[in-house]
Amino acid sequence: ESEVNSENVNSFLSDMPLCMQRLMEGVSVNHHLKYGGRQQLAFFLKGIGLSADEAIKFWRNQFTKSMSAERFNKDYKYNFRHNYGLEGGRINYKPWDCKTIMNKPNPTKTEYHGCPYRDLHRDELLVMLGKLGLENNRSADDVLDLSNRGEYQAACTKVFELVNRDDIDYALKTKNGNVDQSSIVHPNQYFDRSRYLKK
Ligand code: SF4
Repeated sequence: ESEVNSENVNSFLSDMPLCMQRLMEGVSVNHHLKYGGRQQLAFFLKGIGLSADEAIKFWRNQFTKSMSAERFNKDYKYNFRHNYGLEGGRINYKPWDCKTIMNKPNPTKTEYHGCPYRDLHRDELLVMLGKLGLENNRSADDVLDLSNRGEYQAACTKVFELVNRDDIDYALKTKNGNVDQSSIVHPNQYFDRSRYLKK
């Protein structure tokens, strides 16, 4: 299994839940993310195995397309090192689960953090689902309905099933039915489940 690093992290996009895909899109479009988004994505990336050094490279590559290296070092580097417990209180922070993510202040118009099933307007959510190949599909309606009813994790679990349907069917046959189909409660659980299916 290949290790996640600053160069290849984009190749794992399809293994990421929508909240993280959205943050990855935000950083690659704006070459910046506001605090809430930086925290949510940085802890997730740490959880999928991006080392502290590789994380700094990843964020520096992105941010220095919109600012100088000096500014990155001065204003942001500490924060990313802090996330790995390399600065300040040296706390080993854990990646956030869905509940923690949803307990943070909701994103404003220019922010990308939070849960898309809760925070995006129906039309925007539909566009994102379309990018996953779920547009014009009755399945997309099921996801929108769940999200309308406030069942955000059920919507996320549904999307996982739809996107990975073939892999799940195959794994059920080849891994003695050993496939976790419980509800998604954590973005890293989504990622690990997706990687497991591809092994
Ligand atoms: Fe992310 Fe959890 Fe929302 Fe899924 S349900 S998009 S993992 S916050």
